[in-house]
Amino acid sequence: MPEKANDFVIKGTWIVNIILLVCHVNFAFLFYFNNADVLFWFNCGSVAVYLISFELLRREMAWTYVYLVFAEIYLFMIISVMFLGWEFGFQHYCISFIASLFFSDFYMNGVKTISKKPVVMGMFNAFLYIILRVWTHYHPYIYKIENKLIVNFMYVMNTLIGFSFLIMYLSIYSHTVNKLERELRQMAERDPLTGLYNRRKMMQLLSLAVDSEKNEKIAVAMLDADFFKKINDTYGHDAGDEVLKRLADILKNKDSGDGKFFICRWGGEEFFVLYKYEGTRESVIDEFEALRSTVEDSGVTYEDQKIRITVTIGLAFYHSGIQLNDLLKEADTLLYDGKESGRNCVSTNIAKLQTI
Ligand code: GH3
Ligand code: MG
Ligand code: MG
Repeated sequence: MPEKANDFVIKGTWIVNIILLVCHVNFAFLFYFNNADVLFWFNCGSVAVYLISFELLRREMAWTYVYLVFAEIYLFMIISVMFLGWEFGFQHYCISFIASLFFSDFYMNGVKTISKKPVVMGMFNAFLYIILRVWTHYHPYIYKIENKLIVNFMYVMNTLIGFSFLIMYLSIYSHTVNKLERELRQMAERDPLTGLYNRRKMMQLLSLAVDSEKNEKIAVAMLDADFFKKINDTYGHDAGDEVLKRLADILKNKDSGDGKFFICRWGGEEFFVLYKYEGTRESVIDEFEALRSTVEDSGVTYEDQKIRITVTIGLAFYHSGIQLNDLLKEADTLLYDGKESGRNCVSTNIAKLQTI
């Protein structure tokens, strides 16, 4: 689900919280003016719960929020039915709760399967509903509110709360699931140190690119930090990590976001770029030459020490008939050639291609 939809459900939950708060403030007034002391004080407690809930939402403590609100709603429902009886509609929360559980389960798993948890929770709610019905049969009410207008008003409010409750549960549920999904995808596709794609994701992107490319305008580049082991040995592993992050940032800056430049951390101090270029091969070489030069000029300052960094780049242009694995090998060989010829350079297969 896109980020915007998540914003929407978060806003929805805030609105629901406001609705629940307003309902309880209303109830508190009604109980106060109808001399239902116990219920008045209980409602003051509920108002406090919803005020605390805003802080929980602000801190994104979604499940703490859900549990707290659940506890409040159940307690409030049981007490209210016991004190006021059946005609105020408080028992409807049980029904909306059952609906929420089943909806969220369908939302998650589709209609094919119903998992055990909502069934058990649904049965619990149905059981509670029956218990409350039996209780009110023998003890119809403790406080009697005669005014029909108030009874009907509360009935409408309770329906509103039940409905809000349903939306709230679904919003938080979907929000949490989406967040989890994003985190899992992040873990599966990204390198934790640099945030770049990992090798597995890059292999997928490469096969897609090679399969769909018609005009052969693909270049791949293997970049390797020069004498990186020495950087680690001289300045420490943490300094090495900083250098890797800086290299990643420089590469990210080259990505203009038009879906043509894909970067991954291939492993250790090696990076890999897939470039679906538009200009000439010569212009691509110039771009990678500029990249190499940016790295050389940038350096990293770590604990007041200036660390010089350079990279060697093996740049291979795709050409018809070449298999993906061979293209990768070619980039690797070119990188090796670059290292052999003194490092801090871009080594390409353009001369070889001109003879094909
Ligand atoms: P060359 O110029 O030939 O590429 O030499 P090099 O020293 O860069 O290459 P070598 O393969 O000998 O050393 C790579 C080093 O990178 C060895 C390894 O300890 C280090 N390394 C690999 N992954 C990480 C990492 O995540 N963080 C840090 N700090 N170092 C890493
Ligand atoms: Mg290496
Ligand atoms: Mg190296």
